[in-house]
Amino acid sequence: MTIPYSFELFPPRSASAELSLWDTIQVLAATGPDFMSVTYGANGSSRKSSLQVLTYLLEQTPVHPLAHLTCVGSSHFEANRLVREFLDAGITSFLALRGDPPAGVSEDDQFLGDLGSASELVQLIHRVQAERAQYATGFGGRIPEHRARVRVAVAAFPNGHPRSRRTNQDLDTLMAKEVSGATMAITQLFFHAEDYLGFVADARAFGVTIPILPGLMPATSPVRLERILELTGERRPGALSRALHASDSPDEQLSIGIEHSTALAREIIDGGAPALHLYSFNQHQAVVSVLDELNLINQSKETV
Ligand code: FAD
Repeated sequence: MTIPYSFELFPPRSASAELSLWDTIQVLAATGPDFMSVTYGANGSSRKSSLQVLTYLLEQTPVHPLAHLTCVGSSHFEANRLVREFLDAGITSFLALRGDPPAGVSEDDQFLGDLGSASELVQLIHRVQAERAQYATGFGGRIPEHRARVRVAVAAFPNGHPRSRRTNQDLDTLMAKEVSGATMAITQLFFHAEDYLGFVADARAFGVTIPILPGLMPATSPVRLERILELTGERRPGALSRALHASDSPDEQLSIGIEHSTALAREIIDGGAPALHLYSFNQHQAVVSVLDELNLINQSKETV
């Protein structure tokens, strides 16, 4: 069994977190991931620090960086300038997201700016990249090879986006993103294999063809599990929740989280998952242990 894997990081929120993040990145990079993605704070709050982590990945590791970007609050001009800034920094892979409303602002309020959905951001990224490539070679020049290499991922929700009104809305949305030029999807985390496998089967039946990477986050403490459930609105995983809450040993809780994610990963790989995307929480121990348990480290040579 050899499938590629990737990690998600978030920009550090303090100087000490920054120092430990560089160490974490080096440990994760040594395992040979396909890419590492860096989240983008609500309302563009982390533009500088996200770019700093992405630049570190580019310059200090052999790992391919993937930048999350959101459209919240941007005008067309600002979104254009943002994409150009990331491309100029050497970033050629993106996760195009609509983004959530800032704290205290409701979904029903006007919070988005000029771009109304992730699909529009996918189109914008391709457009900016195409214009940039044309300027780089001069009008009428042949289409440069690197233009084809821009990867634009999008989010997918196996259990439905919390705001979806009907099941097909998530499939419609994913299809719209593929038609707009998305080259792969990464899912919201989930705790049950059938959630991912069922969603992929439905997406294929609907006509979606892009790879759908499962997002997994080892829940290694009751506090983390509760926080994940609060943020995502996912169904509570009963057995995992009971086991984590019954233990008062951090080491035991870590093992419980690793064991659960390993079993989940094994089931979805057996069911045909093309890769694993691991939410690292800026810590290496749990995600590397899951990959170790699965015997995936140093065998992963493929890319999605
Ligand atoms: P969209 O795809 O635009 O969809 C948003 C809503 O509108 C959905 O209800 C959708 O069904 C509906 N919709 C949109 N277009 C259509 C259409 N054509 N037809 C029908 N319905 C439509 N947030 C951040 O702020 N920063 C991050 O770094 C970040 N990283 C993430 C990484 C992953 C893997 C995931 C799964 C989510 C991430 N998020 C992040 C959260 C994300 O921004 C929110 O979930 C947001 O509410 C939806 O974003 P989206 O890109 O899925 O939006």
